[in-house]
Amino acid sequence: MIDVVEALRRIEKSAVVSQPRRIRIENAVGLQLRENVISDTDSPPWHRSMMDGFAVISSDFALAEDNKQIVTLDVVAEIGAGETTAIILEKGQCVRIMTGAPIPIGADAVIPIERIVTGSSDGHAGESVSLHDPHFRSGQHVSKKASFFHKGQTVINSGLELEPVHIGLAAEVGVSHVTVNAPSRVSIITTGNELISDCQIPGKGQIRNTNEPMLVAAVARCGAEPIPMGIAKDHAESLRALMAQGLAADILLISGGVSAGDYDLVPRTLEKMGVQCIFHKVCMKPGKPIWFGVFQRPEASPTLVFGLPGNPVSALVCFELFVRPALGVVSGHSPNMQSVPQLTAKLIGSARGNRDRPVYHPCHLELTEGIFLAEALPWGGSADLFGLSHATGLLVLPKNCGDYHEGDLVEVVPLVSRFRYKSE
Ligand code: AMP
Ligand code: MG
Repeated sequence: MIDVVEALRRIEKSAVVSQPRRIRIENAVGLQLRENVISDTDSPPWHRSMMDGFAVISSDFALAEDNKQIVTLDVVAEIGAGETTAIILEKGQCVRIMTGAPIPIGADAVIPIERIVTGSSDGHAGESVSLHDPHFRSGQHVSKKASFFHKGQTVINSGLELEPVHIGLAAEVGVSHVTVNAPSRVSIITTGNELISDCQIPGKGQIRNTNEPMLVAAVARCGAEPIPMGIAKDHAESLRALMAQGLAADILLISGGVSAGDYDLVPRTLEKMGVQCIFHKVCMKPGKPIWFGVFQRPEASPTLVFGLPGNPVSALVCFELFVRPALGVVSGHSPNMQSVPQLTAKLIGSARGNRDRPVYHPCHLELTEGIFLAEALPWGGSADLFGLSHATGLLVLPKNCGDYHEGDLVEVVPLVSRFRYKSE
């Protein structure tokens, strides 16, 4: 039986980055950019007023001794945002201007509207207005054309994972569509004659389908697109029908039916459909029965097929250890899968491993005063989702490691979506 590191190596060898796609910017958040975004404009596009007030000529104020004096100017025009004026400002004149409007030619500073001297006019066009600005600086409240970036400049570099700020920036520079690594499409099939939907009341021997909503959520958390396909019965016909559709996706997850029982038909059905087995069974607990294979799609990257064990904890642990990194490769986020990301922590309490297999035991992981602390949680094994639900990490107990004691250094796989640094 292969170990976890060898399983990861084989998955990495099979995974390739999916074809880039061109999509609207707001749909590209969280995805990796595959081209440079180049501006078609200067920013700001013109000398822009950053205040409601009066566009003035600085020298009219510089002459006011120590800026203490009141300056009276003729208001020759009014400009709102979205308007322009052909007026060229001359000495002794000003233009009433709103935030965002272009500064008229000749002007080079803005006096805020609040600086109108009490008792002066309101400062509309045709009036004269008295202004007093004791803190006046030449060029104040004007954002200079192209002071942020200029037309033709690359404003977002290829390779970046897009955040909302980049979506806004792309819109500013006239880029409505971008080429990105598209979110991977992940089909999810659950198998088992005993399964019913989560809205139903279980009859004798029935259980609710835990894995479908859980895997849908896990896939969505990774920024990929889950495609729930429903429940297949434990016979070849039912499995084949759903698998045929599921194999069209970038990744196919199948839960259940991969162990050695009479009804565990998933591996042989997949192989009959042309999916090449890359490994079956990994030396680990939980998750040992996992199956992995590759299906060659015509004119597309191969579909990676994961047969996850049906027990919910095993399914989720296998997702964290194998599917999440595979998704990273396919979506271009992490071009290579190193070994499982682990960190070293100090053990609180004690923990016991297993003779034959490494154990991934749910634990509480926290960072206190710069030190990671881990404590094994009570856990009933591969069906005990409740036990896992309190965990923020998986304590790695190597094969045949014996007992660990308080204060021992241990390895922990942080559960990425749930582990938070204490200060957050
Ligand atoms: P299997 O891997 O099909 O042998 O299933 C192992 C155990 O997991 C059995 O107890 C199943 O009833 C349970 N199981 C399988 N699939 C699911 C599922 N989708 N949701 C909850 N439990 C499941
Ligand atoms: Mg089953």
